[in-house]
Amino acid sequence: MADIIQLLPDHVANQIAAGEVVQRPASVVKELLENAVDAGAATIQLIVKDGGKTLIQVVDDGIGMSPTDARLSFERHATSKIRSAEDLFKLHTKGFRGEALASIAAIAHVEMHTRPKDEEVGTHLKMEGSTVVSQEVVVTPTGTSIAVKNLFYNIPARRNFLKSNQVEFRHITDEFHRVALAHPGINFYFFHNGSELFHLTAHSLKKRIVQIFGHKTDEKLVPVREETQVVTIGGFICKPSFAKKSRGEQFFFVNDRFIKSPYLHHAILSAFEGLIKPEAHPGYFLYLTVDPTSIDINIHPTKTEIKFDDEHTLYAILRSAVKHSLGQFHLTPSLDFEKDQNLETPYAYQHKEAHLPGVSVDPGFNPFAETTTRSATGRLYKKGSAEGWENLYMGLESKASREESFSSVHYESETISGSIFPHAEVQEENDTTTFQLRRKYIVTTIRSGMLIIDQSRAHQRVLYEKFLRSMTLKETLSQQLLFPISLSLSKGEMAILKDMKDHLHALGFIFGEQWEEQLLIKGLPPMIGEKEAEKVLDQLISECSMESSSTNFSQSDMLAKALSKSLSVKTGALLDNVSQLALVNDLFACKETLLSPFNKPIFITLSENEIDKKFN
Ligand code: ADP
Ligand code: MG
Repeated sequence: MADIIQLLPDHVANQIAAGEVVQRPASVVKELLENAVDAGAATIQLIVKDGGKTLIQVVDDGIGMSPTDARLSFERHATSKIRSAEDLFKLHTKGFRGEALASIAAIAHVEMHTRPKDEEVGTHLKMEGSTVVSQEVVVTPTGTSIAVKNLFYNIPARRNFLKSNQVEFRHITDEFHRVALAHPGINFYFFHNGSELFHLTAHSLKKRIVQIFGHKTDEKLVPVREETQVVTIGGFICKPSFAKKSRGEQFFFVNDRFIKSPYLHHAILSAFEGLIKPEAHPGYFLYLTVDPTSIDINIHPTKTEIKFDDEHTLYAILRSAVKHSLGQFHLTPSLDFEKDQNLETPYAYQHKEAHLPGVSVDPGFNPFAETTTRSATGRLYKKGSAEGWENLYMGLESKASREESFSSVHYESETISGSIFPHAEVQEENDTTTFQLRRKYIVTTIRSGMLIIDQSRAHQRVLYEKFLRSMTLKETLSQQLLFPISLSLSKGEMAILKDMKDHLHALGFIFGEQWEEQLLIKGLPPMIGEKEAEKVLDQLISECSMESSSTNFSQSDMLAKALSKSLSVKTGALLDNVSQLALVNDLFACKETLLSPFNKPIFITLSENEIDKKFN
């Protein structure tokens, strides 16, 4: 085979968007997979160890390289894909910068085996930090295999900056999905630490999506098809009823290249408007084909951003195409009337058995005794209990209200009126008044003034500590389900949950043996209702798949945070007095009362002094 790689002349090289290509193992995966696609491979294998930190290997059966090309491929601006600056505007390949292999070789140990189809023997090349260690003739299959070991071995700062293996592995999986979705006609296999995670055989696009995201995806997909002079749109959107809390399944491809475009994403959102809840994310797999001369890919080194000549027109076409599909398949708006908040079960009662209302008489009641008094509402409550706010504030807890602990109960379920519950004592045990301000804050008095508590953050704190405790002490409580729930998850989602299996178990989740496409839930923590299980796990997966930008927190910490976020009572929830009080009590029984798990202040105080000042 003739040599095809050339060094780009300086004036062309200078036009290539400069910048770092390799940020993390996933960047290497992306570049190697793209090279294999460009080489015309029919089958591509990805082999990864330890989140890519130890090994990333891509094996293809593409065109291979001659010995000279093999050597040249590691030079900067060495490429077989473009020759001149004009070529930058008519790209038909994934690569064009001639920088990937050079950048990778500079920061890792690289081994390449390659052989073109018409040669008998191939080349084995070893590189270490940009220098050739050895080049030999070998017997090797047609195609190319590139193994990248010990990434960032010579830049310890970068190596230390890498996230945990799981996080890096997730990024790799994302890249793998993107390339595999862009090329359903290629077989892709993916191995991590010796086990095969994906075995994707060449298929139609729909089958490829289903192969990756699980067979339940099949029923979610609605085709989108639009042909105009400017663009051809194909692919699928997910039915609005399947919109998720997590952003997971959102893919744009332009000329078979995965790209990120907040602008076009907005076009989809606007097409879905009114059909999904504001916090939900629509799923889509959309493929745009445009004239290569109408786009510029050379604006970012990772080639995931594109400049379109006429973005506005694309926006309009895309939006109407998606709307059209939604209409055509009768995915009419699901009515979503605001629930009447007044009908919601009080927070503290949600998992209590209902009792028939009865008349209860306090035989010891003496309306003239000093210890009781009548509140403005005519309700009776005891006065002068020692368990005042000052105590709560110092972290002491009132026994009576501990029994009605907030954290043991749970918010948002069926709509039942609170009056049928046999319970009114809590209020009477305490002479504390609380009220709710704009369904957001709980306001109460302390000796020195006034306390304004953010209800949602307070509850997050309470739940967070409770979850951490359960995981540490393994004091598992679980409600067994009569009918196990079966969830169908993608492999990536499954991997995330599997990773946290032990912690989840300590929290009260009981799963079936199988960890394939279907996850069987046999038991749940008492505070998670059956109907919510899916939503909670969905949120959990989405939280955990977003890496924390600062340090790597421990898994249990992350889990406790994610759960406390999704299960906490939200702003806008009406809380009755008993619930308000129970929440306040629970908060002040926490180890930390000032800050939410996300380091936000939970309450503020207004001292009498400060109030006085305002009246001056
Ligand atoms: P680019 O893909 O932008 O051209 P790379 O640094 O990724 O730059 O690769 C340099 C060159 O090496 C490519 O242009 C191609 O000719 C050759 N090459 C890289 N990977 C392969 C492969 N898997 N099979 C055949 N040729 C390859
Ligand atoms: Mg490349």
